[in-house]
Amino acid sequence: MLQFLKELPKVELHAHLNGSLGIGSLRDLAERLHGSASEEFSQLCQRFIRFDRDSDLDACFEKFAFVHELTSTAEGLRYATELAIRDFARDNVQYLELRTTPKANGNYSRREYLQHVLEAIGEARKIYPNILVKLLPSINRAEPVAVAEETVSLALEFAQSHPDLILGIDLSGNPGKGRFSDFAPILSLARDQGLKLVLHCAEIENPVEVKEMLNFGMSRCGHGTFLTPEDIAQLKSRNTAIECCLTSNIKSGTVPSLEEHHLKRLMEADAPKVICTDDSGVFDTTLTQEFLLAKETFGLTRDQCVALTLEAVQHSFASVEEKQVMAAKVKKYVDSWQ
Ligand SMILES: [Zn+2]
Repeated sequence: MLQFLKELPKVELHAHLNGSLGIGSLRDLAERLHGSASEEFSQLCQRFIRFDRDSDLDACFEKFAFVHELTSTAEGLRYATELAIRDFARDNVQYLELRTTPKANGNYSRREYLQHVLEAIGEARKIYPNILVKLLPSINRAEPVAVAEETVSLALEFAQSHPDLILGIDLSGNPGKGRFSDFAPILSLARDQGLKLVLHCAEIENPVEVKEMLNFGMSRCGHGTFLTPEDIAQLKSRNTAIECCLTSNIKSGTVPSLEEHHLKRLMEADAPKVICTDDSGVFDTTLTQEFLLAKETFGLTRDQCVALTLEAVQHSFASVEEKQVMAAKVKKYVDSWQ
């Protein structure tokens, strides 16, 4: 089963750029930027992926500061983008929707940040032709609404110049910070202008906000950990997929154990769902590993893993033609195992 899952042409719909750099890629990035990776740096990387039993969501967000430092120059950001794509390509991911929050510092503006990432995706296409990559600029809910407005404005502009690359907007960041209602107007504008919306929703217990988000609507729901049966039914009635990230939820402490993961409830409710990594680097996982965990914990069969992959194809923001090509690849692969 491991080999089958590893070689399966998978579809990743919930992955953050900075969090998706595996330990090997962080080393490669440091080597490119600083000469050769030192032993000290190697130890730093090991600490980076080690989680304490009492790790929580706040501890996870602190870890990102480490990666942000490595991607704070144009060169670092561009190479990090290539490396993240390399890591997914090596796991036989055939389609990737990568999310990233445009940042500004002394080395680049938010506009330049997006330009660098878009150009790096274009370059990576030549090196890794078997993976199709799309970009979802993210709004960090911990930042002011004015920043979100700039992000949406840039996303709309780049969606015009790169219509095959930018398809939507993500709302993410520490769910304990900021209020969804403050961002609703700018998200509404983005949607009116044709961008799809993926919202991190019900990641922590906040029923009032979850209702606001569900009533607002979204193209896909990130995590959905604390959704009630009624919420799940509402998403199901709208065919809105819930992005399940098992290791991420366990390591960030929002779900107590794999057995209690809400993927089980979603399967029982026959709600639309996809399996994703969230931050494969930070959480030291792969999409193959996430499928394997789902199989070992909930007894998913090979056919169910294939069905989940085809479900991800359908819930992706790819074009109809791209979806047909992806589904055909999956079917051809499955046939080769018969
Ligand atoms: Zn996420």
